[in-house]
Amino acid sequence: MASGIEVFTPVSHTLFDPAEIISKNGGRPPLTYQSFIAIAGEPPEPVLEEYSELPPVGDTGEYELLPVPTVEELGYGDISQEEIPPFRGGETEALRRMKESLQDKEWVVKFEKPKGDPSAFLKPATTVLSPYLKFGCLSSRYFYHCIQDVYRSVRNYTKPPVSLTGQLLWRDFFYTVSFGTPNFDQMKGNKICKQIPWSENEELFVAWRDGRTGYPWIDAIMIQLRKWGWMHHLARHSVACFLTRGDLFIHWEKGRDVFERLLIDSDWAINNGNWLWLSCSSFFCQYHRIYSPVTFGKKYDPNGNYIRHFIPVLKDMPREYIYEPWTAPLSIQKKAKCIIGKDYPKPVVDHETASKECRKRMGEAYALNRLDSNSSKGKPSNLSRRKMSHGDQDASNSSIAKLLKTSRSE
Ligand code: FAD
Repeated sequence: MASGIEVFTPVSHTLFDPAEIISKNGGRPPLTYQSFIAIAGEPPEPVLEEYSELPPVGDTGEYELLPVPTVEELGYGDISQEEIPPFRGGETEALRRMKESLQDKEWVVKFEKPKGDPSAFLKPATTVLSPYLKFGCLSSRYFYHCIQDVYRSVRNYTKPPVSLTGQLLWRDFFYTVSFGTPNFDQMKGNKICKQIPWSENEELFVAWRDGRTGYPWIDAIMIQLRKWGWMHHLARHSVACFLTRGDLFIHWEKGRDVFERLLIDSDWAINNGNWLWLSCSSFFCQYHRIYSPVTFGKKYDPNGNYIRHFIPVLKDMPREYIYEPWTAPLSIQKKAKCIIGKDYPKPVVDHETASKECRKRMGEAYALNRLDSNSSKGKPSNLSRRKMSHGDQDASNSSIAKLLKTSRSE
């Protein structure tokens, strides 16, 4: 105001105001989707004022107006040979894409997220509006209300959490919880995050990051991430589970960092929220349910077209070996011009053994977390009583800390 400038900060990046939801919930963020929806109600209408042009910038005083920097000025060098993601930026494209998705009314009203095909890449199974929502090219309220318009024109339609509006509510759910949770983006000091003694193994982590695990389904997804910056939600599930509680037992924060850097829809609240979820660190706790890096993708794409597209070295591998090329006889590998261990890596872990070990370690970590939460509530569990009788007054915290320390030095 001192400079004669009125500052107005509306909340419009999300459907709801996270602070308002938290306040309606007694000062704490609702930690389940259902409780979030119960509090949230209907979102406000989008602002429908249209501007034909931006107002003039006005007097910028001593500041110089600079043009938009070029790709080279941003430090990317020559990108002419690189595969560019097939998604164009901008509001016009966002609105076009949204209209294209919504004009198929039957698709909209029958939308059920868990039923989508994660391997569909020529025509993705979902809207691919996340990058536009992230950059503000599309208003989530406008999108929400356009979907409601479609619903109004029919009798039956799917409902949250699986419906299309349900997806936008997931977005707001994670925004609200992340806004109200200190240290939401880390394990330590994050009250809603299970303390899990993740392993450190740089070699395995790099193999996952670079799409060289030897599991074609996992590698194709990681290569799509690198080339397109976008993958289907269930594809993200597969690779996040594989890195953390499913196979490699590596910290979700490491996977989060890779996604944060490479996703074109990279969003702090949603990315961290989903990594917490997939690693069974928060929100979801059925750690025994592990995605198979072989059979899960095969269900949707038995011929492995998705793999053949993103991993061309496997393009001539016969259908029966495309998800497990290491099982192909050498003569077949030779014929497909892809020798496993030379042209394409051998699996970095044996899924059966690794997933069994992960379940065991998750079970142990969960037991310690239960112990910790019981003792912080002042209700010692049997296990903590036993530990305390051995003279350890602070059994829970120190045992978790010790476990963390041991695993770090593995
Ligand atoms: P649609 O199914 O068409 O959904 C419409 C919109 O709803 C999306 O654009 C998105 O804004 C929102 N939405 C959908 N699913 C979710 C969800 N599970 N959580 C929150 N919002 C959702 N999404 C991001 O936008 N940014 C991220 O950084 C991100 N990181 C993720 C990390 C992991 C490990 C996982 C498992 C998921 C992540 N997601 C992230 C959520 C989800 O995968 C994407 O939002 C979705 O795949 C985007 O595609 P779409 O626009 O076609 O989705």
